[in-house]
Amino acid sequence: MTARRAIRGQGAACVTRFAPSPTGLLHEGHAYSAILAHDIARETGGRFLLRIEDIDGTRSRPDHVDAILADLAWLGLTWDDVVFQSARLDLYAAAIDRLRRRGLVYPCFCTRAAITASLSAPHGSEGPAYPGTCRVLTPDERGARMAEAHCWRLDLAQALDAVPPGLRWHDAIAGEVVADPTPQGDVILARKDAPASYHLAVTVDDAAQGVTDIVRGVDLFAATHVHRLLQALLDLPTPRYHHHPLLTDTNGERLAKRRGAPSLAALREGGVDGSALAARLRATIAKSPQPTTFEL
Ligand code: GLU
Repeated sequence: MTARRAIRGQGAACVTRFAPSPTGLLHEGHAYSAILAHDIARETGGRFLLRIEDIDGTRSRPDHVDAILADLAWLGLTWDDVVFQSARLDLYAAAIDRLRRRGLVYPCFCTRAAITASLSAPHGSEGPAYPGTCRVLTPDERGARMAEAHCWRLDLAQALDAVPPGLRWHDAIAGEVVADPTPQGDVILARKDAPASYHLAVTVDDAAQGVTDIVRGVDLFAATHVHRLLQALLDLPTPRYHHHPLLTDTNGERLAKRRGAPSLAALREGGVDGSALAARLRATIAKSPQPTTFEL
């Protein structure tokens, strides 16, 4: 049973997406994810969307965007739409505004160094959870500091109080999951330099684009706990999730540029056949853990 056939068993046309950040070049791990998402959409008669996650204005590069588009075409993938997060900042600003009006976010003036130095902070999957220094500022103290650089953080305790208990999502591999965003703490929803963070932008966009099936690496599993909470806070639908295993190198290490994984661009420019690489990755996908819970 392939992933695609299992999902097709539902009889629904799936809308999937591939959402790379153009802060670097893609490698085979990205190709695996894009092919899986693409094929699920194509085999169910759905739509495959491309979203360039370029809210990080200082690290995103247009030449990486060009390379990503060329890589996907070289692999033989086609997409039905492409959007750029940098053109959607108003949507994120509106979402953070809704949360602000309900008192579910607060401005945080701390520097990264100050937070890291706080040794008592428990460590979530994304590093130390924020110790809450700015959560306890009075309205006057906040008001006096608003000219300083600040981000906006989710007030997790308030947020959890505002939603029904026991939020869940369905994962194709992990099955039914109860959302527990607690280890992540008061995550950043709007950055000092951008009106959104990854968590906010991805949640807003997946809903706005009608994505029904989120296909992405299992490294983002922990983030989904936060996204599920944001969906509840913003009255957004909850898609199905398919967190797939990560491709590893011969040492069993996750592929990464810093560990020498070749970029797709280098393979493409070196004359490697993109369709043949896609076929090899499809064979790997067929051997990986398959959805068991999507079947009727
Ligand atoms: N932009 C994210 C990344 O490149 C992926 C986002 C997602 O699939 O949710 O890691």
